[in-house]
Amino acid sequence: MRPVAPGGTIGILGGGQLGRMTALAAGRLGYRCHILAPEAESPAAEVSAAFTRADWHDPAALDRFAAAVDVVTLEFENVPVAAVERIAATRPVRPGAAVLAVTQDRVAEKSFVNAAGIGTTGWRPVSSVEDLARARDELGGRCILKTCRMGYDGKGQVMVGPGDDPAACWAGLRTDAAIAEAVVDFALEMSVITARGPGGALASYPPVENRHEHHILRRTIAPAPIGPQAAAEAVRIAETLAEKLDVVGLLGVEMFLGRDGRLLVNELAPRPHNSGHWTMDACAVGQFEQLVRAVCGLPLGDPAPFAAAEMENLLGDEADRWPELLAEPGARLHLYGKREARPGRKMGHVNRLIRR
Ligand code: AMP
Repeated sequence: MRPVAPGGTIGILGGGQLGRMTALAAGRLGYRCHILAPEAESPAAEVSAAFTRADWHDPAALDRFAAAVDVVTLEFENVPVAAVERIAATRPVRPGAAVLAVTQDRVAEKSFVNAAGIGTTGWRPVSSVEDLARARDELGGRCILKTCRMGYDGKGQVMVGPGDDPAACWAGLRTDAAIAEAVVDFALEMSVITARGPGGALASYPPVENRHEHHILRRTIAPAPIGPQAAAEAVRIAETLAEKLDVVGLLGVEMFLGRDGRLLVNELAPRPHNSGHWTMDACAVGQFEQLVRAVCGLPLGDPAPFAAAEMENLLGDEADRWPELLAEPGARLHLYGKREARPGRKMGHVNRLIRR
């Protein structure tokens, strides 16, 4: 497999901030980026050489995009698999359609993780009120009901407690395919981001702790305050899944560390992950450059951090704090250029190195 050399063009499916930061990292290595996304406003397109604004189901646009790039990656894992397959007929798409088919569907994802011998919380597929009522009984009298597809930041989720009416919970979700999960009593939430190259080389960032508010990531603490055994096990899990999925690119693996010390996988993201933003300022090679290296077939960079760090997301109008954040010694501010600051919308983040 010949590498895509600097000077080549990387196609990116999706136009958000993850694409923006990938394009910025790619630019530093001499690549051009071409964004394909349906939305008119695109933080990624604003810093890229080219933008095809098109629907995922527009074959002519997909073909034009494919003809204009050397390799394709994605910053949004819900790109329709058919679109990825069409592009993959003429250009390498990394990670590929088979990875997306697993990670786009929570039942397929949890089945895959369990088949790899890795633990998750107890779960049941749910496609009716009766399924939900039975699942709640079997999962300990309460459960979290999630849509199988297209959920993010807690959207498409509802807690079903012992006294709740299953019919109302089911109707409220407005779907015909869901998963019920046993509620995990976790000590902390964490994640590992693993990069994998086309030849199978692996490089993992250390596990980090993720603190959420209202289901949205608020803060990442790197490294996670866990012992060396748990850290090694978390990395082993992420690398096993990256290999078994045959990911080329990045795989973010979200996990719970249970109060009983067990690690349970919650979700997989085959793309840069919000919990990896700290690597931009605390590692010689951050996750976005690592993605570029992986998809272009370059040697992977060293993922070892040179400092501990904390990442704080700037949500909604919190990005208006930029003057104070710019004045803060040691704070590294990243803004995504989004024009409208809706409540909870990710507008930027700030990294703070912790020197010991
Ligand atoms: P998800 O969309 O699956 O990443 O869930 C969003 C957040 O909801 C997670 O980061 C957890 O804080 C919480 N959560 C999701 N699933 C569970 C579970 N089975 N048990 C406890 N908390 C959960």
